[in-house]
Amino acid sequence: MYFIANWKMFGGLNSLNSLHRVNKFFKTFKKNKSIKIIYCPPSTLIRPMSKKLKKSQIEVGAQNCHEKDNYGAFTGSINSSMLKNVGAKYVIIGHSENRQFGETDKLINLKIKSALKSGLKIIFCIGETLKQKRKKITKQILNKQIKLGLNKIKNYNKILIAYEPVWSIGTGLIPKSNQLLDTINYIKQKNKNFKVLYGGSVNPKNIHELKSINNIDGFLIGGASQNPKKFIDIIKKTYI
Ligand code: PEP
Repeated sequence: MYFIANWKMFGGLNSLNSLHRVNKFFKTFKKNKSIKIIYCPPSTLIRPMSKKLKKSQIEVGAQNCHEKDNYGAFTGSINSSMLKNVGAKYVIIGHSENRQFGETDKLINLKIKSALKSGLKIIFCIGETLKQKRKKITKQILNKQIKLGLNKIKNYNKILIAYEPVWSIGTGLIPKSNQLLDTINYIKQKNKNFKVLYGGSVNPKNIHELKSINNIDGFLIGGASQNPKKFIDIIKKTYI
């Protein structure tokens, strides 16, 4: 089971103090369980976080990358090899908060290829908007996002797909269990090697409902992951 923390644009050096609590919990809790915890802080915290977690089994990832893996005159951008160089093992690509500002499926595909080339694992986000859900075209949208995003990529063992309905992110709303089961199955039917996570308003209260959907391989957690108690509660309750 994957538990991935997406800190978005939150956190300074003092936020790293909260890692101690999660690390301590994880050390004893993980026994006999196949759990992976990955923190994706803002780029400014990747290096200090990796140092802090050096002896821990918690891994660190980034939240986005440029599509070129070599250096270039791209002011303000960071590429995947630079992220790898400072300790990232994963990178989130295709998050709806970036898609809404013009990140296309084609660009996402280039980013994924570049990050794979740099040796990073990918957390590839897909999901429909509320308008698309109302039009009942969720599967069509997911199909297009997967097809174009993974175009010419043959090996999926370094890619995790995070199904994140856009209308669920940060809203407190989650899909109905039967719908979520059906959507995750739909994604998994595309390739038996796909690992599929769910993301969107996961919290300690709704985790009971979400964990009962037995085809989910883990969770991508935004808001709640910034609070160590809530993050730990989500992990604990997934196993109770
Ligand atoms: C996210 O942004 O990836 C996310 C899942 O956010 P939240 O948990 O806050 O809805």
